[in-house]
Amino acid sequence: MSLLPFDDRDGVIWFNGALMPWRDAKIHVLNHGLHYGSCVFEGVRVYNNKVFRLTEHSERLRQSGRVLGMDLPYTTEELDRATLQLLEANGIADGYIRPVAWLGSEVMGVSSQGARTHVAIAAWVWPTYFSMEARMKGLRLVTSSWRRPAPNTVPYRAKASGLYMICTLSKAEATEKGYDDALMLDWRGQVAESTGSNIFLVIDGRLHTPTPDCFLDGITRQTVIALAKRRGIEVIERAIMPQEFADAQEVFVTGTAAEVTPVGSIDDYMFTPGQITATLIADYEKEVGSSIAPASA
Ligand code: PMP
Repeated sequence: MSLLPFDDRDGVIWFNGALMPWRDAKIHVLNHGLHYGSCVFEGVRVYNNKVFRLTEHSERLRQSGRVLGMDLPYTTEELDRATLQLLEANGIADGYIRPVAWLGSEVMGVSSQGARTHVAIAAWVWPTYFSMEARMKGLRLVTSSWRRPAPNTVPYRAKASGLYMICTLSKAEATEKGYDDALMLDWRGQVAESTGSNIFLVIDGRLHTPTPDCFLDGITRQTVIALAKRRGIEVIERAIMPQEFADAQEVFVTGTAAEVTPVGSIDDYMFTPGQITATLIADYEKEVGSSIAPASA
């Protein structure tokens, strides 16, 4: 991955309705989104000039804004069009797209009354999220000391920047201990998700995944559930306790960035990426039109 800082690159960024030079896409330090967390974003991928589930992501951005009381001044169609215009202007065929919406500098205080919702979209060329080596072996996860909070304590349905702080802390805790990523339990002690992806267990040929009642119901998660059902694999959404990892033969995580990535271990539980994971990796790659070699190959 490029080591160039993200504010010093060539290209253009879509900023409040128009394309502007990358380095000029700036906001003031006194900004409501920065100080009070009034900020939502998306992560989207383009594979071979095809943006995967673009409209779902544009719609989720608007919905995340609504949850935070920020109405985006652009329709889903306008956001879709802006994304395609941006990709073309930057000449990006395979990459990552980052739409973001935040409240601006019009007011500075807990109350956001009078603040404008600003929107920007950036995109850059991007390889696969996890290293191929980690992917082949399966990720090594460790349970985080942080838990997903109860649904009446955070607006969990929004892909809101503020909700990511515990993900960042969990990821740092995991990598400092030499793991690839963290498994997050929820406030009840049930299995929730990883720091940027949802989780699935294969138990005796069936797919089990936690009910998304306090964490993001990922677009990749929904895609993989549909792909599994198309294959005739039974999918069970339910509360899952961490001790049940002892019964799982395969585990994998899903996300726009993570795609479908096998998990090799969680704490002392070991898994062997197997047939169902390999099938879903292949099906997902077909679905996104990607030409990346299957991780199980
Ligand atoms: N959970 C978290 C915390 C995430 O950041 C993501 C990535 N957006 C996901 C789950 C998966 O969501 P999606 O499949 O829509 O990318």
